[in-house]
Amino acid sequence: MKDDQTPRTRSPLGGLNLNFLAPVAGDEAAVSMPVQPAAAGEGEPVETRVVIVGSGPAGLTAAIYTARANLEPIVIGGIVGGGQLMITSEVENYPGFPNGVQGPELMGLFRSQAERFGARIVDADVDRVDLGSRPFRLWAAAVEYRAQAVIVATGAEALWLGLDSETRLRGRGVSACATCDGFFFREKEIGVVGGGDSALEEALFLTRFASKVHLIHRRDGFRGSKIMQDRAASHPKIQLHLNRTIEEVLGEEHVDGVRLGKTDEPGEEVLEIDGLFIAIGHRPNVAVFRDWLGTDAKGYLRADGATTASNIEGVFVAGDVDDSRYRQAVTAAGEGCRAAIDVERWLESQEVHTAQKLETGAATAL
Ligand SMILES: Cc1cc2nc3c(=O)[nH]c(=O)nc-3n(C[C@H](O)[C@H](O)[C@H](O)COP(=O)(O)OP(=O)(O)OC[C@H]3O[C@@H](n4cnc5c(N)ncnc54)[C@H](O)[C@@H]3O)c2cc1C
Repeated sequence: MKDDQTPRTRSPLGGLNLNFLAPVAGDEAAVSMPVQPAAAGEGEPVETRVVIVGSGPAGLTAAIYTARANLEPIVIGGIVGGGQLMITSEVENYPGFPNGVQGPELMGLFRSQAERFGARIVDADVDRVDLGSRPFRLWAAAVEYRAQAVIVATGAEALWLGLDSETRLRGRGVSACATCDGFFFREKEIGVVGGGDSALEEALFLTRFASKVHLIHRRDGFRGSKIMQDRAASHPKIQLHLNRTIEEVLGEEHVDGVRLGKTDEPGEEVLEIDGLFIAIGHRPNVAVFRDWLGTDAKGYLRADGATTASNIEGVFVAGDVDDSRYRQAVTAAGEGCRAAIDVERWLESQEVHTAQKLETGAATAL
């Protein structure tokens, strides 16, 4: 139950039924998964102009744009492709879907759009990189990839409590995103678990929808800022439950309560709620890049602000991995687009630069 001990989920698909993603004969929009690593001779490195790491909204949008710019991107998309939306059900706020869309279905559409323009997608994790010189080198599933430019779009994982009941009820009342799912809980009683600023923020945000918000924290005080604590404590719709841990999320098809443990006295209690928001933090997926790319105080990759350029020329970052603030599919997709345009312009400037150098060299030789 310790926040910092929540295991990294390698298979976030949980109990989701993805059968509807299987390709159907004649259905051009059907999703093709999985794709094998891009062909290379035995032991030969695979060379390309752009490698994109990550196949969430940021990575696949970057793939669509770079593929349409004829940059022949290879997406090394992770063992479980599609990113965070693969673990959610209904997405109601992605523009263009007035009736909402299932998260996995949306990511399937992203993927087939990228493949339609020639992006090659590899379902593997990058486990090592060398960004010390160009071409940049990346290794995934024992294959070496070499690229002139790299886009890192590895996302940030929401931390979970690690309870079986929580996993089982994800998307059925358990969520890690208040902005995304708060709307589904109008006039319902919900719980928020966590003790930092994000838990306090989420609880306050959720008061717009819920009839009551139970803010549950295992300690006797919050870590969040004083002003946020005061706001939460004085809000008429928020009830604090300090010194309480979530032992089990209750419900068969949907959440209908939580069993709380007590850290200040013996015993347990049951709280009847319709939804539970886990707000114990996010972990940006930066492990393989940490030795090369700059991070901020929270551990997120740092872009230069005006563009998506990182501290290494030719390496760009996009999506939740450099965004601890917005963390939405549409903002991640927008960043993927920005990174692709930045790559395109940067590669072009390199070619112009190389051509100029050649010309100068030729002039000198004469
Ligand atoms: C439960 C939940 C519900 C949500 N609902 C909504 C919603 O309704 N609307 C909305 O707009 N947003 C929603 N979000 C937020 C949204 O999912 C994210 O903002 C968005 O997916 C971020 O996109 P991304 O491409 O930056 O990263 P991600 O989607 O996290 O994708 C990152 C990708 O990188 C891959 N990766 C990581 N490490 C490596 C590696 N070493 N090598 C190769 N690949 C790697 C991962 O496997 C993954 O495929 C929700 C999030 C959660 C957790």
